[in-house]
Amino acid sequence: MNEIARQTKAASCPICGKATDVAFKPFCAKRCSDIDLNRWLTGVYAVPVKDDEDEDGTRPADGDEGDRS
Ligand SMILES: [Zn+2]
Repeated sequence: MNEIARQTKAASCPICGKATDVAFKPFCAKRCSDIDLNRWLTGVYAVPVKDDEDEDGTRPADGDEGDRS
């Protein structure tokens, strides 16, 4: 019956577990929002790019397919 109770029960920050702030949904503060953004940025983009590009431009996938068991 209380609207405030309804909102506080809605969600909690996925980073630190505090109550979500409407301004930074679904996080409690900009700091936690940044932390989450940084997590998937470094996890998805920064890591694979280094290993994926060869300096010589050679592709290991070429002619390597017949070696699979
Ligand atoms: Zn938080």
